Amino acid sequence: MVTIKELIVKGTERLNKVDIDTPKLDTEVLLSNLLKVERIYFHMYPEKEVSEEIEAEFWDSIEKREKLMPVQYIVNKQEFMGLDFKVEEGVLIPRGDTEILVEKTIDIYDKEFSPNSVNIMDIGTGSGAIVVSLAKYINKSNLTAIDVSSKALEIAKENADNNKVENKIRFLQGSLFDAIGGKDEYKAYDFIVSNPPYIPKDVVDTLSPVVKDYEPHLALDGGKDGLDFYRAITKGAKDYLKDGGYLLFEIGYDQGEDLIKILKYNEFRNVKVLKDLAGLDRVVLGVKQ
Ligand code: SAM
Ligand code: GLN
Repeated sequence: MVTIKELIVKGTERLNKVDIDTPKLDTEVLLSNLLKVERIYFHMYPEKEVSEEIEAEFWDSIEKREKLMPVQYIVNKQEFMGLDFKVEEGVLIPRGDTEILVEKTIDIYDKEFSPNSVNIMDIGTGSGAIVVSLAKYINKSNLTAIDVSSKALEIAKENADNNKVENKIRFLQGSLFDAIGGKDEYKAYDFIVSNPPYIPKDVVDTLSPVVKDYEPHLALDGGKDGLDFYRAITKGAKDYLKDGGYLLFEIGYDQGEDLIKILKYNEFRNVKVLKDLAGLDRVVLGVKQ
């Protein structure tokens, strides 16, 4: 039987031969997932032997990673806002940058709405990263999660269950506001939030293979100029937000100016762009008149 140390050395060697930034870390994450231990365990027990079964699974994982499958799709999980999310191919992996949108929404709730109950709509819910976090961190909230992808909704529901907020969230399948159907929910929402697809169509194919070959283009492709969803959601949000309600979007690093125009054109006020930790535009928000 092989030892932990041997597997880590050999796995790292294989990943070193392909274009991966962190071969050793990835190898350790894949092995720790199979052994169900923290990585620190490897430093404590490098000589511990690994069963043949686990060894075979380990080489399967390494092979997937060699083909540049994201680690998150191999281990089927990603942490977001301190919570565990399940992810699978077909659903976008939540990004750390998206926490800015969630944190800002919580911040506005605390300052302007607490202790009242609020209605929140999340458009393009994906894994449920945004909607589940808001449900968890804003106690008095009723949430509606919309996605056109049945796979996304299935995973989002599982994530709501696992984080014990399933009874606060209504999941609707459909395109943008059509998902709400004939229900009379005009001016019913305090917040509409969205991280929509925002990569210009032609740019999607130039993204790194880790993204373009594995993540759903349905979650990335924002149309010719990348702004299709922002125009449609901003226009629709005017009908569904209460007066004084907030619209918040995640945006691409070069979309701040365009988004300010789109929100102002639709008569949102106090329009602001927030930057991410790298100093790039990341979130735009505005208040409905
Ligand atoms: N909210 C998740 C997050 O932040 O990690 C996922 C965001 S992902 C960038 C965009 C999501 O929008 C995808 O889950 C995709 O399926 C969904 N989507 C694409 N077109 C849509 C449409 N017309 N109506 C509703 N959702 C749509
Ligand atoms: N942030 C994602 C990326 O880097 C894009 C997500 C989106 O289109 N909303 O690929």
